[in-house]
Amino acid sequence: MYLPSSTHPLYFKWSWRYIFTSVFSMRHFFVLSLALNVSFILRSVFEREQGLNWFGFESEKDQVTQRTRLSVSSPLSSITTLAEAQDSGERIINLDHGDPTMYEKYWQQMGDKTTVVIPGWQYMSYFSDISNICWFLEPEFAKQVVRLHKVVGNAVTDGRHIVVGTGSSQLYLAALFALAPSDASEPISVVSQAPYYSSYPSMTDCLKSGLYKWAGEAHNFSKEGPYIELVTSPNNPDGTARHSVVNRNKGTLLHDLAYYWPQYTPISSPADHELMLFTVSKSTGHAGMRIGWAIVKDKEVAKRMTKFVELNTIGVSKDSQIRAAKVLKAISDTYEHVDDSEVGETFFDFSYHNMAERWKLLREAVEHSGMFSLPKFPPAFCTFFNQVSEPQPAFAWLKCEKDIEDCETFLRDHKILTRGGKHFGVGPKYVRISMLDRDENFIRFVKRLSTIRV
Ligand code: PMP
Repeated sequence: MYLPSSTHPLYFKWSWRYIFTSVFSMRHFFVLSLALNVSFILRSVFEREQGLNWFGFESEKDQVTQRTRLSVSSPLSSITTLAEAQDSGERIINLDHGDPTMYEKYWQQMGDKTTVVIPGWQYMSYFSDISNICWFLEPEFAKQVVRLHKVVGNAVTDGRHIVVGTGSSQLYLAALFALAPSDASEPISVVSQAPYYSSYPSMTDCLKSGLYKWAGEAHNFSKEGPYIELVTSPNNPDGTARHSVVNRNKGTLLHDLAYYWPQYTPISSPADHELMLFTVSKSTGHAGMRIGWAIVKDKEVAKRMTKFVELNTIGVSKDSQIRAAKVLKAISDTYEHVDDSEVGETFFDFSYHNMAERWKLLREAVEHSGMFSLPKFPPAFCTFFNQVSEPQPAFAWLKCEKDIEDCETFLRDHKILTRGGKHFGVGPKYVRISMLDRDENFIRFVKRLSTIRV
């Protein structure tokens, strides 16, 4: 058996495990082990941020870097130890929605860097830039969108049109409106490979449009004629990298890239598709701002999308666009002005490490319980972090093993609220679980999951 030396960071964890296994049952052991792992992570994050090495001394290198960073703690640091996150099993843990509250911590610690004050007389007009196809697009927001995509390297923006929307949800409908032929005798079919984002069917059909109609799982689509295929990559709910699957000549692709950001997946190259949707909801965590953007190659499509938003809401809140611009700018600033003493911890490093910690805890809990399984993701090279990394999706696509047929109901009986497979076009053995909730809720969740038995 491998035992680290007493000076090794893992020694702390191992030595405790070694002593206690003989005294406690496996269940006690796991809870304790999870607690120690969390405190181990917290300790490592704390010491990394404090510039301390494993012996508690400030290292020379860190004395320098510490001066150039704001002190930003890990989102997990709101819980001092796992043992303190008491869970009687009674409290409802709601991880049904992908509400990105995990990110509050980062922005809180950025202080006033993204505070926006708008005098009462400002942004009163409907219009932002009448020379732009998207006349309600705030130039500063457009500038920061382009800048961030260049910093991250996740999308081509040169020679493209940007259309802003009230969330990418509005742009999804604007895209269907723009891509559907206006003179067809029947609505165009809209398909997506299952499991697909649960809102697509209801958003597509809610107004029973004469222009487009939900036609379900892309693999089963056999109708001749035009169709729109939705490609969500990384995919919601299962986190996989996706490509179109229908591949017939009368198809139009709509790429939903809400999760194509380095905290969730290795960035392989700048995405270069006809029509791509992005949103602040999942990139920066500002879902409440309701801002999304489309990057569009074709001028006529951009015009029709703009028309849709005009007919729908006569533009998009300028206040939100200004606030979004400030948030995107703050992120790019931390990468482009690395020598600025006021820069602070970089957003994607912070969120990447937090997602990594959460996935590690979740995989441990799943392994301990023995009742569930999770997808495995192949590592790939990330051009943004310049290293090989593994996908760590915003949702866990959990499968109930053994003879549990309805995973959503099974977990609900343990007061864990998730979204079952049927909402995503597959069977009830799967559930989708948000990985983006606040620390306290997430820790309580892994702790409870780890103890579940038949
Ligand atoms: N597309 C996907 C794949 C999503 O997961 C979401 C949010 N759950 C959206 C679009 C909608 O995002 P927004 O908040 O910008 O409307």
